[in-house]
Amino acid sequence: MSRVFNFSAGPSVFPEPVLEKAAAEMLDYRGQGMSVLEMSHRSKMFTDILADTKARLRRLMAIPEDYHILFLQGGAFTQFAMVPINLMRRHRRGAYINTGSWSKKAMAEAKKIGAVSEIASSADSNFNYLPDLPDALPEPADYVHITTNNTIYGTAFSNMPAYGDTPLVGDMSSNILSQVYDVTQFGLIYAGAQKNAGPSGLTMVIIHKDLVGHAPENTPVMLDYQVHVKADSCHNTPPCYAIYLAGLVFEWLEDQGGVPAIETRNRKKAALLYDLLDSSSFFRATVAKPHRGLMNIPFLLADEALNKPFLTKAAEAGLVNLKGHRSVGGMRASIYNAMPLAGVQALVDFMKEFERTYG
Ligand code: PMP
Repeated sequence: MSRVFNFSAGPSVFPEPVLEKAAAEMLDYRGQGMSVLEMSHRSKMFTDILADTKARLRRLMAIPEDYHILFLQGGAFTQFAMVPINLMRRHRRGAYINTGSWSKKAMAEAKKIGAVSEIASSADSNFNYLPDLPDALPEPADYVHITTNNTIYGTAFSNMPAYGDTPLVGDMSSNILSQVYDVTQFGLIYAGAQKNAGPSGLTMVIIHKDLVGHAPENTPVMLDYQVHVKADSCHNTPPCYAIYLAGLVFEWLEDQGGVPAIETRNRKKAALLYDLLDSSSFFRATVAKPHRGLMNIPFLLADEALNKPFLTKAAEAGLVNLKGHRSVGGMRASIYNAMPLAGVQALVDFMKEFERTYG
């Protein structure tokens, strides 16, 4: 067996011990004589897995008891709609910080439900920086939406804005559990699992209890947070196996020392790559220094004609999925929690060698 270093933006690299454990438990989950894939979601076997997975996430992110944890389906994309459906109640308006394609898609969904104020944007420079945020909201809104990490452009917010009583909603799809965030600064956090937490098909929602129970009467049941809170994420058949795998990822993360420890490692990994980019005239980072995230690192080759040979040679060296998103071009290295330091070191060594050969 030979495994590559996978720099995919998502679905993405898994911690190897998790894959091994899932494989070992595939046919017989802990003496139950069946796979997690075969369990009823109403069985004690599964409800124990669900409770354990939730408890681990609560510990890892220090989520207070007045927040509910939901494991839903439909991806972060469905949250783009559920957030306005459930939260736009008084002002029927959401305030959005536009830092890239995912923020724009969130706004487009919200506009179908109510009004949207774009309170800041970095669209003028292809989202390669984080815009200054206003001190106060220009118009009253039911919530403020922020994309904490911009998967395509590589920018990330570390400090959250505060707008009095207006709850902050965070799309944390691409950096949940990678650095310490204070959950109490948010009213709601959502994230697709497929980068730092598990397989696609699972969406995590962390929601303050005061934001639950306000969806309009005619809301389809699956789009109403209250339905999922009441049923403990089991109103219909939940993504059982994905929840189990997320539980294994959370267990692994606890073994690594939790979020503060993984943040330290993530900072080392990002610095290793950014140091090379900043010291080279052959490669160039696209994101302004103070606005760089730890998870997705876009970079360009000075000579675009070398993009193809770079990707080919990288793949030959076992470094895969480095092609940048079409809206930025060049390369993007996604280095989520499960990417080991050795993977980033291998990439940096390869880039130095490539520059020696082609530079
Ligand atoms: N938000 C962000 C920041 C993302 O990176 C993505 C997916 N890459 C999404 C939302 C959409 O997530 P999903 O595919 O789970 O619907």
